[in-house]
Amino acid sequence: MTKIKKINPKCMPHNFDFTKSKELGNFPNFTSAGFMLPCCWLDHTPLKKENFANLWDEELNIKNVDSIQEVLYSKQWKEFFKNLMNDQEKAHHICWKNCSMEVEEE
Ligand code: SF4
Repeated sequence: MTKIKKINPKCMPHNFDFTKSKELGNFPNFTSAGFMLPCCWLDHTPLKKENFANLWDEELNIKNVDSIQEVLYSKQWKEFFKNLMNDQEKAHHICWKNCSMEVEEE
């Protein structure tokens, strides 16, 4: 067995293989600029400036949607969570810093 680091997102209500549910930590976060984010750790000016994962696309600002579901089910959010689950190399270092853990892998 070897130990590897994986992100166990606190913004998702289940573990890696969906066998256990867990309480959501800080999901979601509302910013003063009118955007929703998966957590408060992403509410960080440099990420907003680079529009990380397109989460700050203007179409996602709450002034431009009719319901929160439009944001939660947007292509940008789906892509963000798809990468967190399946392609963690693309995750931001903030996610690695706050939500990673060592797991044993055969
Ligand atoms: S740091 Fe990343 S993985 Fe952790 S809760 Fe926030 S968005 Fe989710």
